[in-house]
Amino acid sequence: MICLGIEGTAHTIGVGIVEDVDEKCKVLANVIKMYQPKEGGIHPREAANHHANFIANLVIDAIKKANIDKKEIDLIAFSKGPGLGPCLRTAATAARALSLTLDKPIVGVNHCVAHIEIGRGTTGCEDPVLLYVSGANTQTIAFAEGKYRVFGETLDIGIGNMLDKFGRIIGLEFPCGPKIEKLAEKGDKYIDLPYSIKGMDVAFSGLLTAAEKTVRDKKHRIEDICYSIQETAFAALAEITERAMAHTEKNEVLLGGGVTCNKRLREMVKTMAKERKARFYVPRNDLCVDNGAMIAWNGILMYKSGIKMNIKETTIDQRYRTDMVDVKWR
Ligand code: AMP
Ligand code: MG
Repeated sequence: MICLGIEGTAHTIGVGIVEDVDEKCKVLANVIKMYQPKEGGIHPREAANHHANFIANLVIDAIKKANIDKKEIDLIAFSKGPGLGPCLRTAATAARALSLTLDKPIVGVNHCVAHIEIGRGTTGCEDPVLLYVSGANTQTIAFAEGKYRVFGETLDIGIGNMLDKFGRIIGLEFPCGPKIEKLAEKGDKYIDLPYSIKGMDVAFSGLLTAAEKTVRDKKHRIEDICYSIQETAFAALAEITERAMAHTEKNEVLLGGGVTCNKRLREMVKTMAKERKARFYVPRNDLCVDNGAMIAWNGILMYKSGIKMNIKETTIDQRYRTDMVDVKWR
């Protein structure tokens, strides 16, 4: 079975084509375009306009890269939520148009669950705790009693948003995470910053405010501030992930989301896993960031488990939580 998936929850519009080969996920194509605001954060309508401009060409490009005929596509999947309304609607509209013109079934996918499933489908892990760290989302997620449940999450802003906001303060361009990572590599002096963990949850706005103040005070190098932000925030993430693993008694940890590209975060979580004698998994980078292949793969799992949607049911849900999905395929 071959599925074309469209991702469009926030800044990225992506089209992925995957094939189910003996229950294994084979990615045939995975192309994305990322909206980059000229200044400030993501403007939902402008991001949606960006997606509308690029989606048709991305579909053509993906089909070409997959080296298939469009008639070979068996299923269309799209990101139903959570995300920004205008962006979600643009992706869903494109998916409906494709489903109707190709006369193929369509399913709406939960974006967060898709991050887990692409990890399970491509890295060999089976029953992990996922540390999902992206722009807007920061959660630890694991499977229990028929659903993916959120064990810990941010109580205020997502880790990526925190990095992007801090980056903007020091004059970096979006996305700032990779640029902060480069600066942090040149830092070595740890500056004390607030470390907020509440139970299994984290919070980052206090850390952001304190880091901003440190910049204004001009007593420290930017490199050392970036280093300290990473050390503090990532240690908190490793800690809540470990707590979720201990609580669920799972011995696999999987990373997902754009911030997963960060080498220091990987190293910290890997060390934690090693100390617990647990296995550590991370998908390749193009499958960690928001992408269409993960939506396509989750679409296949849903469809094969008997989930069908008619066009009227292909609505979007800006607040589609991870634990609202009935995971019939497990
Ligand atoms: P996503 O929403 O999953 O596509 O991820 C986008 C977020 O990942 C943005 O906030 C980026 O700043 C962040 N990001 C991407 N690469 C890195 C990196 N190497 N280190 C830290 N954050 C990153
Ligand atoms: Mg994401």
